[in-house]
Amino acid sequence: MHCPFCRHTDSRVVDSRTSDDGAQIRRRRQCPDCGRRFTTIETAGLTVLKRSGASEPFSRAKVLAGVRKACQGRPVTEDQLAVLAQRVEEGVRAAGNAEVDAHEVGMAILGPLRELDEVAYLRFASVYQAFESLEDFESAITLLRAEREAAAPDGRPDRIPAP
Ligand SMILES: [Zn+2]
Repeated sequence: MHCPFCRHTDSRVVDSRTSDDGAQIRRRRQCPDCGRRFTTIETAGLTVLKRSGASEPFSRAKVLAGVRKACQGRPVTEDQLAVLAQRVEEGVRAAGNAEVDAHEVGMAILGPLRELDEVAYLRFASVYQAFESLEDFESAITLLRAEREAAAPDGRPDRIPAP
């Protein structure tokens, strides 16, 4: 851990404390060069690597913002969105990596969103997978329909009407 004051490349831990809920460790550190002290907080992190090469901590709020946009005007409640964001986070964490590509987060959103609302799913997929033409929509809808028919072969009414 670099010293935040003089950028010295090393520091010494002088005290460690685990928070009451066990989710954090606070460490008091001292720089051997300038002698100043600083605190670091350690949590089990999940870092998202963006296509630009930048990285940022995983944020449920960001997942929610993207999904909420896709759900505009759809019969989807805030509670359902919160559950979806939680499922996305659990899905991403279940892979067991401390770092994930933004792409993997997007992929983790698609499944639960499709179960929640197929129109919102198509909107999200069209942006996320960069649909460029009507044909891209058509093939996504064809796939949705085929998978739904496979799941319900008795021909129950669809949520997307057949043409
Ligand atoms: Zn220092």
